Amino acid sequence: MVTIALETLASCSGCEISILDLHEELLELLDNAEIVYAPVLLDAKEIPEVDIAIVSGSVRNQENKERLEELRAKSKILINYGTCACYGGITGMADLYTPEEVTSRTYTDNPSTEPAELPSEVVPELLPIVHAASDFTEVDGYIPGCPPKERLVGDILIPLIHDEAPVVPKKSVCADCQRRMEHVEFDKIHRRVEGDPDPEKCFLSQGYICLGSVTLGRCGALCTAAGVACHGCGGPSLDVLREPSHDIYNGVIKRIAHLSKMPEKDVEKQMYDMGHLIYGFVIGSKIMEDKLVSKIPQLVKKEVVR
Ligand code: SF4
Ligand code: SF4
Ligand code: SF4
Repeated sequence: MVTIALETLASCSGCEISILDLHEELLELLDNAEIVYAPVLLDAKEIPEVDIAIVSGSVRNQENKERLEELRAKSKILINYGTCACYGGITGMADLYTPEEVTSRTYTDNPSTEPAELPSEVVPELLPIVHAASDFTEVDGYIPGCPPKERLVGDILIPLIHDEAPVVPKKSVCADCQRRMEHVEFDKIHRRVEGDPDPEKCFLSQGYICLGSVTLGRCGALCTAAGVACHGCGGPSLDVLREPSHDIYNGVIKRIAHLSKMPEKDVEKQMYDMGHLIYGFVIGSKIMEDKLVSKIPQLVKKEVVR
């Protein structure tokens, strides 16, 4: 019987819940594997030796880092599960602020709660910035998604427990999107709340920022089908990951310039809120920060050192 550990670091626990979304396939998983450690499901305090460790959430504090390192030492296969574990995810947006700003906002300077003492002795010390798990350990596989979609979880986990190589989709979100991409001359980038985009046409062709072309497409283009532009929760596309000079920011700029005939520098002048809009799911990723053209170094608070 294959043994599995599920570890939750700085996470919303949505990733663990997504494993339960396997529905009937969960039974197939449990016929062949035993979940022996999962703080979100079981009362197991010590991490045992396991075949497969699935880690979700980013590394935000010293305790996260120590648990991740212990998990690596005790597992044969370690998988980053969810965009937080793979690229820092949405939790990485804390890097737009210093740890002091984050803690004071939580405990002492929050308009909706009474100020409280900082619990310095019981809360593990925050690291200077948020990290993806692979910043500290060797990782055997990445399953991004926020959370990963249930179909993908089944397609990857079930073969893995049978010691088979999983077949994973490699295309971007655009490949599954039914919207029509077309060349239209325009000279204004719209904020997402502005106007009323045509439901048949590509958001980019209408001057709205959509990250579908630079995002790994394992969700079936859920959001664009529902009328919402892709905000990149699936993590960077394989093209972005492979090319050192290809980044989410420059990928979007180039595509809008291509579709609208606006010069790239004019598109750049209109870009807004890069921290949330462009890098919202990857700002904690060293892989993305180290890209030759990455804007992440300009966004992360400068007094911290990676
Ligand atoms: S990837 Fe998404 S669902 Fe998973 S822990 Fe992070 S925020 Fe939650
Ligand atoms: S950029 Fe967005 S709206 Fe356009 S085709 Fe790609 S996913 Fe669809
Ligand atoms: S369309 Fe984009 S934001 Fe929506 S689920 Fe897919 S990857 Fe995530």
